Amino acid sequence: MDDEAAALDVNEIYVLYEGYSYIDPQDSVNSVRANCTCTLIKGRNNYNIIVDTMTPWDKDKILQALSEHNIKPEDIKIVVSTHGHSDHCGNNNLFTNAEYHIVGECISCKDKYLKHDFRIGNFHLTDDISIMPTPGHTLTCVTVLVENTNLAPLVAVCGDLFEKEEDIIDQKIWLDDGGSESPDMQRENRAKIAEMVDYIIPGHGKGFEVSNKYRDLLRVNAGLSEKDIERFLRDSS
Ligand SMILES: [Zn+2]
Repeated sequence: MDDEAAALDVNEIYVLYEGYSYIDPQDSVNSVRANCTCTLIKGRNNYNIIVDTMTPWDKDKILQALSEHNIKPEDIKIVVSTHGHSDHCGNNNLFTNAEYHIVGECISCKDKYLKHDFRIGNFHLTDDISIMPTPGHTLTCVTVLVENTNLAPLVAVCGDLFEKEEDIIDQKIWLDDGGSESPDMQRENRAKIAEMVDYIIPGHGKGFEVSNKYRDLLRVNAGLSEKDIERFLRDSS
């Protein structure tokens, strides 16, 4: 009972399905095999959020994984697709009880579209969960920032801003395999997110802790000085 009471004090984050991306040499056409990392955020006060709903062929996988957490599709309050690629929004239709569907920077419910200007600020879902614009992979990609979690004080569920942990060392993974509409913006946002958060759940791999070594690498790759990063943190606080 004590454990249960304590658990309510944090936002619980669970990876329902660990994504992947790789080139299959057997494929005869130029292609990549990929499916996204699908994440459940069991927010406090039953504020359940699902992030990135895999391909339209994965309905049963999602339903099964949710049921293991005692969640029915109608219990999901917010659906977030970090961007509109088909493996990140393929099962949004399961969650028609949700208050909002957020696909990239587009926030809607039924036929009502919210006008939120992400250039002015994040979209706050609760006092410790918000949606931040992180363009790069696509120009309207977003990241879900979750404070006070079971994994770390501040977690970024960031879609394809990071494909996987390995892409910090091997940039070909996010630049060529994943693809980027704006490599410059993506480099900058990768550095900023790494500076802000303790833990990252990437678009196509397992979650990882952000080390200072990673922060330095990403900052240098983005051509940012320590002062630039400090200024960014000041502006975003
Ligand atoms: Zn993706």
